[in-house]
Amino acid sequence: MDNIKTKQTIELSGTALDEFSNHFSGSLIRKDDPSYHADRQLWNRMIDKKPALIARCRDVSDVIHAVNFARENHLLVAVRGGGHNVAGNAMNDDGIVIDLSQMRTVRVDPENKTANVQGGATWADVDQETQAFGLACAGGIVSETGVAGLTLGGGFSWFRRKAGMSIDNLIGAEMVLADGRSVYASEKENRDLFWAIRGGGGNFGIVTSFDFKLQEIGPEVMFAACIYPRAEAERILKFWVEYTRHIPDEVTSDCVNWSVPEHESFPPELHNQPITVLSAMYAGPTEKGREALQPLREVATPLLDLSNVYPYLGVQKMFDPFLEKNKLYSYWKCLFLEDIPESLQKRIVERVNELPAPQSLVSIRNLQGAISRVPAEATAFGDRSARFLLSIDTMWLDPEQNEANIQWTRDFWNEMRQHSHGQVYFNFNSDMNGTSDMLKDSYGRNYEKLVEIKTKYDPDNFFRLNANIKPRLEI
Ligand SMILES: Cc1cc2nc3c(=O)[nH]c(=O)nc-3n(C[C@H](O)[C@H](O)[C@H](O)COP(=O)(O)OP(=O)(O)OC[C@H]3O[C@@H](n4cnc5c(N)ncnc54)[C@H](O)[C@@H]3O)c2cc1C
Repeated sequence: MDNIKTKQTIELSGTALDEFSNHFSGSLIRKDDPSYHADRQLWNRMIDKKPALIARCRDVSDVIHAVNFARENHLLVAVRGGGHNVAGNAMNDDGIVIDLSQMRTVRVDPENKTANVQGGATWADVDQETQAFGLACAGGIVSETGVAGLTLGGGFSWFRRKAGMSIDNLIGAEMVLADGRSVYASEKENRDLFWAIRGGGGNFGIVTSFDFKLQEIGPEVMFAACIYPRAEAERILKFWVEYTRHIPDEVTSDCVNWSVPEHESFPPELHNQPITVLSAMYAGPTEKGREALQPLREVATPLLDLSNVYPYLGVQKMFDPFLEKNKLYSYWKCLFLEDIPESLQKRIVERVNELPAPQSLVSIRNLQGAISRVPAEATAFGDRSARFLLSIDTMWLDPEQNEANIQWTRDFWNEMRQHSHGQVYFNFNSDMNGTSDMLKDSYGRNYEKLVEIKTKYDPDNFFRLNANIKPRLEI
């Protein structure tokens, strides 16, 4: 692994650092800074990495200086957007973290229905600005999730079947490359790079801003949230798999197996009860939505039915209280599934009933619609034909349970692997190391092209803390 310093303590004094700090307008946080421990926290509490330096950038020139400083001093680089990735690649041990969390400006062009979003923005930042104009960007469903990591990996929103993935709404991106150049990638400029960042993750450079196309959504939307007892899981899953065969693109829905959170928004007598939740959003007129989502509310007798017309901004924050930053130890694995026949439905429910901690959830997202109308070769993402994305999101509060919960997740995933082509969504995946088979299974025919583009733009694998596509010389 060439000349990148990984495990030794980096000498962070002397002229190189002085010169860097003279040019850097953001903040440089070191191990002895009072805020260091808070600043290195990520969403996943299990990640406990201790970088030598966190370079919190204020603008594009800071990002360029940080990239040049890291390259010239052979430092291991992590890039942080929203810090939500479960794999914890936004931190490292003893290297430099190029942190964009202060670069969060969002500018909306209501006439052209587009937004320019800085590389450290969260979806809360984007939703707040775009909804002021009755517009929305196809992005994450938990508001503190970062725009950058989510978009570069694909991006599944509450209106994904209507508008496609986040990458399908991307017009272009301003990026800093490994050699320190700032470039724009779009259909017109650096087309190969633009193709690669739509699904290829953080492999190719640091995105300092994105240009997105926006959709007319809200200010109010019909949202279904039917909470059924887990005892009904088999019936509900069977119903839902059929229901999703015949719905319009406006309906995007999930089937989630979980337990009622110990939170004031739920009656105390329901806390920790195992549940199966059908949730869905209708991306269109609320009255039509009420009709389209009604069947989800009638599958069995719900414990609670929270379905209603909500402000879109409220829907986007609905799950925030249960998924707070740095609270849950988390290990996630996922798979795209072509279909879920009845025998597999039964097996999923059996497995789900063994969920090791009440905070854990197993979610199945319905896909297709606009997502699968984009050909596999059109963006790096790869095959889009799957009907479902199964995500085993194991989460717990006691670190003593780490090993058992990781093993349980792997066992479940290994069993489900036999029912899929092995394509994973890297944004819901804790295992990033040793992923070469996973990369090939996931990118399919696009993998070789990704290697070419990686070799062209990042021949030294400077950006390696990600679902890493290795440049040709390193394979
Ligand atoms: C609670 C929760 C809810 C989620 N909900 C959704 C959802 O609704 N839909 C969905 O599709 N996914 C969702 N995800 C998954 C999410 O897409 C990934 O966690 C994603 O990586 C988060 O992006 P981030 O910027 O916050 O991540 P970070 O941890 O900051 O970054 C992850 C990786 O992205 C790259 N990266 C980050 N910023 C940049 C940048 N500016 N330029 C280049 N590369 C960069 C780096 O390789 C980095 O290691 C959710 C995750 C969590 C924890």
